[in-house]
Amino acid sequence: MVSVVRIAVPVPLAQAFDYSVPEGGVAPAVGARVRVRFANRILVGVCLALDPEDAFAETKPLVEVLDSTSVLTEDILRLGHWLAAYYHHPIGEVFAAMLPNAALQGAPLTWCPPEVWLRVRGAVVDLARAPQQRALLEFLEGKGGWASGAAIRAAGFTSAMIAALVKKGALKAGERPYELEQPLPLTADQHRVVEDYRRSLRGFSANLLEGVTGSGKTEVYLQVIGEVLAGGGQALVLVPEIVLTPQTVARFQRRYGAVDVLHSGLNDQERLTAWLRCRDGAARILIGTRSAVFTPFKKLGLIVVDEEHDASFKQQDRLRYSARDVAVKRAKDLNIPLLLGSATPSLESLENFRCRRYRRQVLPRRATGAALPRLQVLDIRGHRLQDGLSQPLLLRMARHLDAGGQVLVFLNRRGYAPIYLCAACGWQAVCSACDARLTLHLGRRSLACHHCGAEQPPPPVCPACGRADLTAVGIGTERAEAALKARFPDFSLIRIDRDTTRTQRRLEMQLAKIRRGEPGILVGTQMLAKGHHFPNITLVTAINADAGFLSADFKAPERTAQLLIQVAGRAGRANRPGHVWIQTLQPDNPALQRLVEAGYAGFADHELANRHRLGMPPARHMALVRAAAADPETPRRFLKQLKALLIGKPSADGAPRPHRDAALASRPGAVAPAVQQGRLGAGGGAAKAGSVAKPPRAGKQPDPLEVLGPAPAPMPRLANLHRQQLMLLAASRNALHGALDGLAEVRAPRELRWNIDVDPLDAF
Ligand code: ADP
Ligand code: ZN
Ligand code: ZN
Repeated sequence: MVSVVRIAVPVPLAQAFDYSVPEGGVAPAVGARVRVRFANRILVGVCLALDPEDAFAETKPLVEVLDSTSVLTEDILRLGHWLAAYYHHPIGEVFAAMLPNAALQGAPLTWCPPEVWLRVRGAVVDLARAPQQRALLEFLEGKGGWASGAAIRAAGFTSAMIAALVKKGALKAGERPYELEQPLPLTADQHRVVEDYRRSLRGFSANLLEGVTGSGKTEVYLQVIGEVLAGGGQALVLVPEIVLTPQTVARFQRRYGAVDVLHSGLNDQERLTAWLRCRDGAARILIGTRSAVFTPFKKLGLIVVDEEHDASFKQQDRLRYSARDVAVKRAKDLNIPLLLGSATPSLESLENFRCRRYRRQVLPRRATGAALPRLQVLDIRGHRLQDGLSQPLLLRMARHLDAGGQVLVFLNRRGYAPIYLCAACGWQAVCSACDARLTLHLGRRSLACHHCGAEQPPPPVCPACGRADLTAVGIGTERAEAALKARFPDFSLIRIDRDTTRTQRRLEMQLAKIRRGEPGILVGTQMLAKGHHFPNITLVTAINADAGFLSADFKAPERTAQLLIQVAGRAGRANRPGHVWIQTLQPDNPALQRLVEAGYAGFADHELANRHRLGMPPARHMALVRAAAADPETPRRFLKQLKALLIGKPSADGAPRPHRDAALASRPGAVAPAVQQGRLGAGGGAAKAGSVAKPPRAGKQPDPLEVLGPAPAPMPRLANLHRQQLMLLAASRNALHGALDGLAEVRAPRELRWNIDVDPLDAF
């Protein structure tokens, strides 16, 4: 008889909590959901252990056991412990992040196969006196002989009509039919890679697939997945953003039929259904964004991370995980292969290859035989710019348009202009809640803060001096669109950014127009860089992309180079060669020159050497501790105390004593054993079991842990909060985690918010 169970409760406290099983009640299984009372609320938690040896003496009873068996697979349970330990995040919140929302609400975990109706071919029925039923059959005919129940009802037909037709034998329930395509005959390069995978993909291995844009990486994934499916396995494909690239899903469907998807555009029931279908083995392929990495599978045989360098794999709030790194951990844990594909691999992955933790395969050529576009620098010093565009650039655009090509104008800033100022007195529109300028959006007549989301109408006259001399300075996509429309009135122009593509349908319409290939101009942000295949683009221009090379963030050069190569990769993908012009006022910038001359690989080598020289990731491991409060002093004081705790010296202000909120804690430190176990084999493959940081030898080795700060965050004030941060750098994962473990029990003052970000995306 189980009397006490340990529960991961979704609250921001490090430990799990013990509850008693009511007399005569049924105990939950490990992995089952329960309802518990916590600080006067009823919450859904996950059972982690039965009758733990160190059970807390005084426990409250469980309110309800929701599942008779575990809802999670064993590997997902283990993953939860590992995530809590690696990202130093409360275990209850980790499990909450891993479960679909419907499951967290306590919904029963069931799913129904989608309702699909198929016309029965050749059925002869007399519908002379049933015009509506006849109309329904005609409707289906127009849709290729099938439709979902939802689509049928949305078209005005009723369930009764469906039932009548089923009775007459003209309609039957079934599965959506797919017209399947054969695999493409592989190019020699693809063949070499697929063969290598065929031989070597047994058990765990992380494989970096470095293939230039358009080299046919997707075809490689498809064929390797084919092998996995043939062996009865399931495949998980992680992509940065599904909404941006619906054609990827369509391509998988054309090859393998039904494909499940998980992304933010789904409702709770749809998400739950995909999740359960994977867990129960009904789904064969899941294509999903970041959080799909937490999906349980019955028999997962392969994980693919496409565009592995993409920043959107890193969650930026709450549980700050990297889906790519979690995928590595999962593959290792399940002993299955992992493919990480990119034309511009992250420096972490390149370092992992260098240290032989990853294997690497290269696709150096485009699959279609098209040439890779060459990056060229357009020196515009001394040229007059009109709306950010130089004459030489406009001339090149005109030439390509007249020759029937499409031109892509890349500009990574939405809105009309990033600066709105008074030419008379110098007043600038700034956000009242952030240390940021407001961006002018002309179309919706607003000044918007891109950091906190605040918006206000632009003032008619200067609020400072009252004169009507307000000017927009700088260029965003909206302004580029207006300027190019005026300059090229005879060509179609499409703008693609978050403002013009708020709905999926609208985005798809825009993309379809481009794919039809009529000559015209595309203006857009990095949304255009992501994996699209537009065959007719012959010219790509970047207007101010190189500005990224000047940013203070240590990752900015890497990100800028990736972005430039990815946008450039949209050019010349079919039979016409592509050209790329980077308009710049800094043609001598060494990073830009290196990228242009040595390509991404040469650039990345150099950048990686830089990181080693500076001791920045991936040479050392980084974590940030961020703190924010309404006044600047509170976070600063708090982080100073944390720093003292981290480096083991008492601060003048007195280090915060680790203490627990006894009233809340059913049992202190409950997850410790699991945490230790979870630590082994950290993500990115960096940590080795038992590799304890060596003490520094005098003058030779760097300190195992360096703590820098507190210093103001990159945006020191955001949404009325003052932000400060500590930066931790360590040569070994264990040194980093050991230090951060010491913060697990810290209680911050009420008015302060703080978080730990392991392997952060931005540091400065
Ligand atoms: P990547 O994912 O590397 O950017 P894709 O897989 O999207 O490249 O392929 C780019 C283009 O090349 C697509 O239009 C695709 O249909 C085509 N392609 C890929 N493999 C082959 C092949 N073996 N033979 C012919 N065309 C191919
Ligand atoms: Zn003024
Ligand atoms: Zn703001």
